Amino acid sequence: MRKKIASLIFKDVTGANESNRVSYIVRINSLMMCLYFIIWITVFSISERYANAATCFLAMSAYAVSVFLTYRDKNTWALMLYSAVTTCWMFRFVIQWGWECGIQHFIFVLLVLVFIGSYMSFKDKMLASTVVFAIRMLLYIWHITHEPMEPLSRPMSITFQIINIVSIFLSLIVILNVYTHDKLQTEKKLAQYNRQLKVVAEHDHLTGLLNRQSGMAETVSKIMDGSFNYGMSIAIGDIDFFKKINDTLGHEAGDQVLKVLARLFKDFMNEYGAAIRWGGEEFLFVFEDMNLDDAFVALDGLRLKISTLEIPWNGQRISVTMTFGVTDINVMTSSADRENDIEKRINEAIADADKKLYMGKQSGRNKVVI
Ligand code: GH3
Ligand code: MG
Ligand code: MG
Repeated sequence: MRKKIASLIFKDVTGANESNRVSYIVRINSLMMCLYFIIWITVFSISERYANAATCFLAMSAYAVSVFLTYRDKNTWALMLYSAVTTCWMFRFVIQWGWECGIQHFIFVLLVLVFIGSYMSFKDKMLASTVVFAIRMLLYIWHITHEPMEPLSRPMSITFQIINIVSIFLSLIVILNVYTHDKLQTEKKLAQYNRQLKVVAEHDHLTGLLNRQSGMAETVSKIMDGSFNYGMSIAIGDIDFFKKINDTLGHEAGDQVLKVLARLFKDFMNEYGAAIRWGGEEFLFVFEDMNLDDAFVALDGLRLKISTLEIPWNGQRISVTMTFGVTDINVMTSSADRENDIEKRINEAIADADKKLYMGKQSGRNKVVI
């Protein structure tokens, strides 16, 4: 039952230029007014005031049309109908029962709707507010210049006040809740999208490792912020004869090898620093606070691990080896150093590691060259 009512209210609208929020607010309020008049129809029918009950039935039907219009993406029309009907019956009630019935307070629901139940320009909102203000003033002028057609009895006055207070409060609570809920949801979604966007922008989508740009940026900021006792070492690793895997087993097999190796690098480098996909089948390894000798020892351990790895693929097992070039990098920074200077230093170190990698390839592969 609850689900059915919710789906009726929150049934998505498809209008290109209107948000769901406007529809929900107008729809829920029109529905609430239908309910409000069902109560009055019941009260008036019980007290045998059939003319009043008929007027209330008319008002209720108009609000039902307003609900219907929101399903047709005609929110502006729905809101206009809502405002017109509300104005009409407010006058009708004040003329008949006077100020005592407390109906005039519904004007504030209208005022709030002008601001958050529509996408009017500021100028139009001011104009609509002036109209709402004028309606309120006219009601008051009518009240001070005319006696009500029918003075309210005390029980009737209490009934009016209670039903109106509850209805006005509920209407405002619903409007403000939908409005703030929608805004919070949007903000939450935006923050979530931003986080996702950042992750996508910073990581290589195949392996999940940091990509070249963010890897470089992170290394620069680590050098700028960090204080190292043992300096920093970096290595470039390249998969040996990787093209052969692609050529013999297919590109997907190559991708699988990259993914499995990346997972291994991530786990392995967790302890030391970071693994970055530098490009293609080349990876950059950053050993923070680690001198060249220790980095060499660690890398050689990784190299051995890789060479014993058997990567399952379509019932076969793929074995790979890697060659590395490792070097250290000057991490002494002064206040005069800018990001560009540090980046230049890192690039020089990478060029040196690359040279060593090339030497490793030339001299038989599956080795770490220091
Ligand atoms: P070497 O031992 O000299 O490094 O030989 P190699 O075959 O590994 O080197 P080469 O540079 O000739 O080939 C690298 C290959 O890596 C070529 C390219 O198609 C492949 N490659 C680069 N990026 C990807 C990728 O994301 N997925 C797959 N499957 N292959 C890739
Ligand atoms: Mg290679
Ligand atoms: Mg290569």
